[in-house]
Amino acid sequence: MKETIRPSTVTVLCTYQCTAACQQCCFESSPRVKGALDSAFICSRLSEIKESFPSISIVVFTGGEALLLKDELLKSISHASSLGLKVRVVSNGFWAKRMDGALRTARALSESGLTELNISTGRDHQQFVPEESIINACIAAVEKGITTAVSIETDTEESDCLHSLRRDPRIEALLKRENFKIFNNFWMPFHTDAQRRQQSPDLDLLRKGCSQVFDNVVITPHGNISACCGLTLEHIPEMRLGKSNGTNIAELYLSQADDFMKYWLRVEGPYRIIETVMGDDAGKYVEDVVHGCQACAILHKTPEIRERLLENYEVHVASVMTRYALENATKGIEISKTKEMAREA
Ligand code: SF4
Ligand code: SF4
Repeated sequence: MKETIRPSTVTVLCTYQCTAACQQCCFESSPRVKGALDSAFICSRLSEIKESFPSISIVVFTGGEALLLKDELLKSISHASSLGLKVRVVSNGFWAKRMDGALRTARALSESGLTELNISTGRDHQQFVPEESIINACIAAVEKGITTAVSIETDTEESDCLHSLRRDPRIEALLKRENFKIFNNFWMPFHTDAQRRQQSPDLDLLRKGCSQVFDNVVITPHGNISACCGLTLEHIPEMRLGKSNGTNIAELYLSQADDFMKYWLRVEGPYRIIETVMGDDAGKYVEDVVHGCQACAILHKTPEIRERLLENYEVHVASVMTRYALENATKGIEISKTKEMAREA
């Protein structure tokens, strides 16, 4: 099965340090957190991964706050770009307090080879990075030719970040451009004191397989390789594949080929797995779930679910592996069909 593992993405979690300290941050990031990768480490690992997995087409730099790496980030972007990869940065937009600074940063990012910028914002984020910075960041990035998306956490009853941003005339103008969009992201609580939000779970989405498994090679700020960059990754030991030593990333990543659970997650996703193994009891575990990674943490950390999985997983092996094989086979057909059409055009 190793030959079927052809990841398309590398995610570099550059640091867990952040200029903000959102209360429900999945990595508990804040300015106090220490530690970051440097460009020498990142560049060598990107070369290693690209050589091992030619299927890689995009690198995502995120954190914490990736732009805290400053020149180290720019060097890493340049290197990723020199490998022929698309490059995306995820940021909270702290660097765009003033328009002149925003334009300087956007120019440096663009000249280094950045193709996409994702800006995360919303009620929690805006306690640290105001809406005006987000608007500056969007205008500057789009002006420098960077495809830009703003991801907004679901509002509380009192907050209205999504509509406020959409109503701004400068953002209205950007929304007419092809390379700019805004989308709403489900907000996931990490602590019991979190204020609830008006979110109706999208069950169709929750019941889908996890597209990150076998598709994303993730480097953490501690130089570890992870199976995904899901919001709960640091809460699920099974996602940790081991420490990168400069030559072993393919070995670590492909070690998952023996792990049936990864195939199951890929094909059915954690929400459906809980429903399958817990039957009529599933509701009490998933009733508050709005995000797949939340279900994944519940699946891996609830002793009753783990016990039931261990007792019953064998009866699901044949159907899960068949569906996985079919998914791969179909992918192949689509690719060759597309190539054929491109040749004929
Ligand atoms: S901006 Fe993002 S990384 Fe930083 S504290 Fe908030 S949620 Fe965490
Ligand atoms: S659902 Fe699980 S495997 Fe998938 S990204 Fe989230 S934590 Fe990772």
